[in-house]
Amino acid sequence: MLNFERVAMRYADGTQALRDVSLEVPAGQFCVVLGSSGAGKSTLLRMANGLVRPTQGSVQVQGVRIAADSLARIRPRIGMIHQQFNLVLRSTVAENVLVGALPAMPTWRALLGLFTDEARCKACELIASVGLHEQHLLRRVSELSGGQQQRVGIARAFMLDPPLVLADEPVASLDPQTSHDVLSLLRTQARERGTTVLCSLHQVDLACEFADRIVALRHGAVVFDGAPDAFDPRL
Ligand code: ADP
Ligand code: ADP
Repeated sequence: MLNFERVAMRYADGTQALRDVSLEVPAGQFCVVLGSSGAGKSTLLRMANGLVRPTQGSVQVQGVRIAADSLARIRPRIGMIHQQFNLVLRSTVAENVLVGALPAMPTWRALLGLFTDEARCKACELIASVGLHEQHLLRRVSELSGGQQQRVGIARAFMLDPPLVLADEPVASLDPQTSHDVLSLLRTQARERGTTVLCSLHQVDLACEFADRIVALRHGAVVFDGAPDAFDPRL
């Protein structure tokens, strides 16, 4: 589903963010990229949707190599969930979720598509499935708690039924109980739809609880790749 082939990333200022990382994420896997701040997690996730271009190696999504001329084809297959939610705070929950149906460069036709009954039904269904209620639909996102906002972020990410979801530290700004609830919900959504998830985390306990597989990064290199029960937190 997602394949990193010997990727490396050296930023313009000389920072070596990733070194020779190879990783094959099969369809349906909930794969957690674990590492402390600066380990290279964001860089790896940003490579998977073409926001960062590797200085060495290549990345493939469903067998298609990410490149300037394939991005438009690949992006709609990827749902994104962000640490800071990246929602439009002034807009309603329903509007924010509907926006998940838009491609990066929406055409008028795509914009009009937001107002079809089909799109609205899908948004309502998703909002309910992440545990928000009808009374939240028309509330502004700015009135919701962090945990509720990330639920909106998850609903938006699944709007196009993407085969792959990238979640970059989705619970980093939430308290431990809410983090637990939000990850549980993300995993349930993914399981029900057979979605592949690449999710970065810095908390070992959460990684061990939710991951099918842990890939631990340290200083840009993979120091562990395997099942959570084989993971040694001293690494
Ligand atoms: P993480 O997500 O694990 O915190 P990042 O991928 O954000 O790690 O960062 C890995 C390393 O690359 C860090 O040393 C960070 O400072 C550096 N880095 C990230 N983005 C840039 C950039 N645009 N330019 C230069 N260095 C960067
Ligand atoms: P996180 O720890 O959440 O991954 P970072 O603080 O590493 O976030 O990065 C936040 C943003 O700043 C990212 O877009 C990253 O690319 C950029 N960034 C991080 N480190 C550097 C750096 N040394 N130089 C330039 N940009 C950087």
